[in-house]
Amino acid sequence: MTVSQSNSEYDRGVSGGDTIMKVRDTSVTFDMDRGESRVLDSVDMDIQRNEIIGVVGESGSGKSMFASALLDAIVDPGQLSGDITYYPESGDAEGQDILEFDKEERRQYRWEEVSMVFQGAMSSFNPVRKIETHFIETLTAHDENVEEGLERAREILRDLYLDPDRVLESYPHELSGGMTQRALIALSLVLEPEVLVMDEPTAALDLLMQRSIISLIRDLKERYDLTIVFITHDLPLVADIADRISVLYAFEFIEIGPTNEILEDAKHPYTRLLLKSTPNLGSPIEDMRPVEGSAPDPVNVPEGCSFHPRCPLADEQCVAENPGPYEVSGGGDHFAHCHHWEDASDAIPMMEEGANRADADERADRPSTAGYGDRSGDPVVSVDDLEVHFEEDTGFLSFFSDPDVVKAVDGVSLDVYEKDVVVLVGESGCGKTTLGKTAVGLQEPTGGSVKFHGEDIWDVKRSGGEDVNWGQIRRSLQIVHQDPGSSLNPHRRVKASLEEPLRRWNKDLDGNDRRQRILSLLTHVGMTPPEDYIERYPHQLSGGEQQRVALIRSMMMNPEVILADEPVSALDVSLRVEMMDLMIQLQEMFGTSYLFISHDLSNARYISEKTGGRIGVLYLGELVEIGPPEQIIQNPQHPYTQALRWATPELNPQEERATEAPIRKIDIPDPKNPPSGCRYHTRCPEAREVCKEQKPETYDAPTNVESHQGTCFRMVDDHEYWESEPLPEGEEGTLGDSGSAGDEGTATGD
Ligand code: SF4
Ligand code: SF4
Repeated sequence: MTVSQSNSEYDRGVSGGDTIMKVRDTSVTFDMDRGESRVLDSVDMDIQRNEIIGVVGESGSGKSMFASALLDAIVDPGQLSGDITYYPESGDAEGQDILEFDKEERRQYRWEEVSMVFQGAMSSFNPVRKIETHFIETLTAHDENVEEGLERAREILRDLYLDPDRVLESYPHELSGGMTQRALIALSLVLEPEVLVMDEPTAALDLLMQRSIISLIRDLKERYDLTIVFITHDLPLVADIADRISVLYAFEFIEIGPTNEILEDAKHPYTRLLLKSTPNLGSPIEDMRPVEGSAPDPVNVPEGCSFHPRCPLADEQCVAENPGPYEVSGGGDHFAHCHHWEDASDAIPMMEEGANRADADERADRPSTAGYGDRSGDPVVSVDDLEVHFEEDTGFLSFFSDPDVVKAVDGVSLDVYEKDVVVLVGESGCGKTTLGKTAVGLQEPTGGSVKFHGEDIWDVKRSGGEDVNWGQIRRSLQIVHQDPGSSLNPHRRVKASLEEPLRRWNKDLDGNDRRQRILSLLTHVGMTPPEDYIERYPHQLSGGEQQRVALIRSMMMNPEVILADEPVSALDVSLRVEMMDLMIQLQEMFGTSYLFISHDLSNARYISEKTGGRIGVLYLGELVEIGPPEQIIQNPQHPYTQALRWATPELNPQEERATEAPIRKIDIPDPKNPPSGCRYHTRCPEAREVCKEQKPETYDAPTNVESHQGTCFRMVDDHEYWESEPLPEGEEGTLGDSGSAGDEGTATGD
């Protein structure tokens, strides 16, 4: 096997194909008071014509800088240097040096040759202009025939399963997140570029929409002959579509190779550790480990191999010499920047081939709830037939018509026990946050009840309780937000933020006791030296550190239940396992229960499986399935849970995944006007006539697992559902194998 450190070997290795862009020795730097910040450090890459290449990295690894560099769009005062050559025609030996373009050439290159899709389409569109205006402006700015261009736009919108008339006539806020993101993709394609750079294009979307758009991207590449650079922090997501994956660490590419080789046997220690740290549905829980340490500051990147402070294989050579690219496979297309890549597989073993499948099957086969969290006592919090209906303010129009009512939560019953973990999952707008807030007394229900140790908390608030009072309830039911910045006062040091609850709830502690308790908790959560951390303001902490402070601040009140609202979704993948492990440790220390909200089934699986908890699946305000994670993940009974399971990206390249989407429509119906009967019937591929008319009750799942229940007629052997006629495909619209609406009926549903 060739082992090489020279860039010329790398050139020979990766330049064999039909290269459309060649990036050499390219850097982006910013001059800062404390020194030069090198946010892209002498990177090399060849992008092959018509491939999808995934660029994977954690926040601050340089991936967005790389994307901007490809368009020569680094904002001031950043400095872009190096060589980026674009080869517009196949076989073009010379190419064009994009950093030498004059203003006019650059204008033509951007969007006409290389186009970009950013995350968060809403912020890319001007909110006071219709979508059509954006297309017209883009076409006009590039001297294109507007009429022909708009015709092309309509075609692309149709290819993205959108109704062109409706979308073009809409303002951005009139479309759902998934629709605006698809409209933005259409806009980026309207000038018929050769290369599409997508920077986290699905990060803000729900799982089902994300998976559907990923499938569409694959189709678009074929249909429009595109080369796609897909930039993401989410390795499993890109693994589904990329031909090759490149991994960025500390502003450099540290490994690049074919997707299957990277997933099966990555050669760089960081890639291996990143894969092991990624929550997923297949691997044994005990195999998932956080990557120790943190990524370097761009002003202070370690000498030699930048990963050496975190690498279990590091030796003197690693500290002294920056490793060049070593060719690690006979194919000449897999490179790792590591001196000891040959030892990485033994030193950092991945899961054995097939182990995850066998393990998963074994987990699904577990017959009973034995060993799960003890739910034999009385619940701490109990919600019964809960309703939270909001009247939507229609302003002036409300004089003439009844206001619309959003049934955010509708008829949910759920008990949370001591030291329990219940994870609520579902798409945006399914009611999971409203249910969580209502369960911890932050939102008053419009129907049903919420009880704390058997007493209705709103009765206690209004007229006092027998055994509990309102102050005790407020202290016992806490919340940790997704954005820890929102719960920490930006003007208060960590010490002041953490002292406040101790002063309020532990009046017997003096100043010294409070300080000692804070120092000990900061040490416990790995924020050392704690004497340094207590003096910092929130902006001097990383996202993960802020979340830790928010968590221990809640724990200071000795709560019985914490509502953790997407507590890890803003963190990098490699930190999620660490944060969830920390939550579990604190749970053991303080005896707390969690109501954990997540849109991500992999995170839900991790924390619930590790704690013997449960996963509850919400759809349009209703709890449609609940049970142990092994059942919900490996043996889901409700068709909606099955769709969420399908949409969750996998890491296992061996896994045969159904390409056919088990869902009729991408978009969730309007919660103001939920479908009749079973609310899922408009999207359910198993729906029959009876599902339109009758509302399913909660049934025990046919899995012999006591706490596994769901609301689907298919769980009942002798239900009339089985005699009922299937809903015709055309009536509600059916999805094609791209996971998208496949006929006109559904396009209008968007
Ligand atoms: S070069 Fe050394 S420190 Fe860097 S990844 Fe390889 S073994 Fe680890
Ligand atoms: S009750 Fe009918 S529509 Fe609802 S999930 Fe079951 S099969 Fe689908």
